[in-house]
Amino acid sequence: MGLDINELKNDEGVSYLAGNSVPKGSIPIAQAYAGHQFGYFTMLGDGRALLLGEQIIPDGMRYDIQLKGSGRTPYSRGGDGRAALGPMLREYIVSEAMHALNIPTTRSLAVVTTGEPVIRERLLKGSILTRVASSHIRVGTFEYALNFGTAENIKQLADYTINRHYREITNDENKYFSLLKEVIKRQASLIAKWQLIGFIHGVMNTDNMVLSGETIDYGPCAFMDAYNPDTVFSSIDTYGRYAYKNQPKIAVWNLSRLAETLVPLFNENKEHAIKLAQDAVAEFYELYHNHWISGMRSKLGIFNEEADDEKLVEELLNLMQKNNEDYTNTFIKLTFNDTFVNETAEFKEWHNKWQARLQRQAQTKEESFELMQNSNPAVIPRNHRVEEALRAADEKEDYSVMEHLISILNKPFAHTADQKEYAELPPPSLCKYKTYCGT
Ligand code: AMP
Ligand code: MG
Repeated sequence: MGLDINELKNDEGVSYLAGNSVPKGSIPIAQAYAGHQFGYFTMLGDGRALLLGEQIIPDGMRYDIQLKGSGRTPYSRGGDGRAALGPMLREYIVSEAMHALNIPTTRSLAVVTTGEPVIRERLLKGSILTRVASSHIRVGTFEYALNFGTAENIKQLADYTINRHYREITNDENKYFSLLKEVIKRQASLIAKWQLIGFIHGVMNTDNMVLSGETIDYGPCAFMDAYNPDTVFSSIDTYGRYAYKNQPKIAVWNLSRLAETLVPLFNENKEHAIKLAQDAVAEFYELYHNHWISGMRSKLGIFNEEADDEKLVEELLNLMQKNNEDYTNTFIKLTFNDTFVNETAEFKEWHNKWQARLQRQAQTKEESFELMQNSNPAVIPRNHRVEEALRAADEKEDYSVMEHLISILNKPFAHTADQKEYAELPPPSLCKYKTYCGT
């Protein structure tokens, strides 16, 4: 980023990261935004975050540097504006793992403890995460402009977004419509990546979807273990609105909210403008599906296309679900092909079908193997491993567990021997893994 790590680690640097002083030239702001939370519109805003400023990195890209957990702002409502160590380290670990998995995401530059307690169900260690993002322009930012601003404000926001993220459409005849289409494309690609890796965001409210196409706001997110499309981890997602299988649908729902804000800019004829928006949003499914099936082919070592490939994938997923097989590890077993996923006749039959399918392409077995290694991660941030790292950090101030975990998660496609242990499943537990929001 063009930042000097050693300077960030000295007293002055740490005081910036802790929000105790402000770097020269920075004018911190809390951003206003609104959004639909679990389907209901509400006014939100940076209630516990502060944008320190933007950093233009050596390659010319511009990044927001934001403190999360730095105290109250005008948008804090009843909240204290603070964050606890566990959830901030959790965002650190998972966002960095997502980056290593080649999934667009905000990054984590630092976590510091503040030395002050935060009051939750019990006293926790106050902490601040420094988040780096291509921007924090959310679907909810546009909803804010629509509901609390003027038509001119929406235009300004759209122009700003185009200039920051979609310069290639600046000269398009209907650039605001192009903006919607481009955002849809990036989200279709992003959500397909989530599905392919088994990532469940957990709180896909419109304020947690950004126009840059990065994954943002690692609150109650978690990775699916045994394949089950109904998987939900978040304690507050009672009805499974944000379950694994619903993520593409919810993306469409959120993009529809974005489209509503842009419609007035598309065409003077309102009906025509709405039709344009509807058609663009409806295209999401095909875009998403193309990314998904192409990703699935890669996960199975398939290079060419056959009409029945989707059926082959669906059969595998159904078998995984029926047999309670781990999603990530099933693909690892297939990649290293030393055994069947399990010994049931159905799995063996599927395996033979898949092997026969691999014969119907020009590429060699070795090429398939290589494709599979690069498409199937050896490790994901398994919930019990993340918890173990957080416990050591929080209870014993022992950060070595976390640092080792991050080093393992850093190269998910390397398939090294020391990753094996991190691919193992937790011992059976009576309690279902649960995640919590805004903690
Ligand atoms: P999130 O769940 O992080 O997406 O946050 C949803 C909304 O709640 C955002 O507007 C946050 O700024 C706000 N929020 C979350 N935690 C706090 C807190 N401790 N104090 C004030 N606002 C908060
Ligand atoms: Mg949020």
